[in-house]
Amino acid sequence: MITPLQQKRPSKKQKIQKTWQDEMRDAVSSAEELWSILKLPADKLESAQKACKLFPLKVPRDFISRMQVGDINDPLLRQVLPIEAETISDPNFKLDPVGDLDNNPVSGIVHKYHGRALLIATGACGVHCRYCFRRHFPYSEQTASKKEWQSALEYLSKDTSIHEVILSGGDPLTLSDAKLSQLFKALENIKHIKTIRIHTRQIVVLPSRVNADFLELLQSSTKNIVLVLHLNHANEFNPALAISLQKLSKLNVLLLNQAVLLKGVNDTKEQLINLSHALFAHKVLPYYLNVLDKVSGASHFALSLDTCKKLHKAIKARLPGYLVPKLVQDLAKKDSKTWLL
Ligand code: SF4
Repeated sequence: MITPLQQKRPSKKQKIQKTWQDEMRDAVSSAEELWSILKLPADKLESAQKACKLFPLKVPRDFISRMQVGDINDPLLRQVLPIEAETISDPNFKLDPVGDLDNNPVSGIVHKYHGRALLIATGACGVHCRYCFRRHFPYSEQTASKKEWQSALEYLSKDTSIHEVILSGGDPLTLSDAKLSQLFKALENIKHIKTIRIHTRQIVVLPSRVNADFLELLQSSTKNIVLVLHLNHANEFNPALAISLQKLSKLNVLLLNQAVLLKGVNDTKEQLINLSHALFAHKVLPYYLNVLDKVSGASHFALSLDTCKKLHKAIKARLPGYLVPKLVQDLAKKDSKTWLL
């Protein structure tokens, strides 16, 4: 007979909580499985499988759970959905649209703009976004892996004009807390670096990434910490993400968001206004609204510059200034991002 106490006690299975690494390993990586979970049209599967050969599929199950079953136009699904259009080449869309490889003084460093440098901390991501401008980046050659961090760190130490390091990738928060901690310690020793900025989508797709060790690492740093999240649609918020952002907002960390304007995802003023309101409700400020980088395989997400400007004007007319992100474009051979409005 089961007593009420036994009923309340969690089973051994329930007690084993999945870590973010478990969730990352368990991400869906086959189009067949994605099709089966979301009940997508069978006639689109073959072309999806072809597109996956160019850029593999990877979607955490937590992120899939925020999508509408049976809706191939779901705005979250569209961001990760491999489709036939990716396999048709368009001469206006390039392998390295923002010129990262022309600004690569040592392995693992991209130094394009005065005062800040980007450290490619890892090539791994928790999710594969089909619009990603680095989908063709040669990570295996360029990633500042632990052993190569040395040359990247030496470069940062020698150039005293660099006051901000941007941890990017891939997604830097796919690194373990131990590796991240080693990187933070090394950066702590470089006195002219005042700010560590982390660009991440990992927290969005895997909110469990905000664990106690990560919070402690941020809390203990003597540098200014800026966390730039990458959310493109208000539907990306779920209760787990809300809890993680609440924990982060209690620290001395600036929380910003950078979105990309994507056809079929966030190309209406209502969607963009909802995103700004949802971000603010979670103490995140909208920072940039990027025009899509013209990367090969992503032409189906492109909106004309005129449409982007009109959308921006429309949201500006409806939101207070602090909720209007800057409309920007990343162009090769420029000394900063190009502000369009
Ligand atoms: S680098 Fe960012 S945008 Fe690109 S696939 Fe990874 S998470 Fe997505």
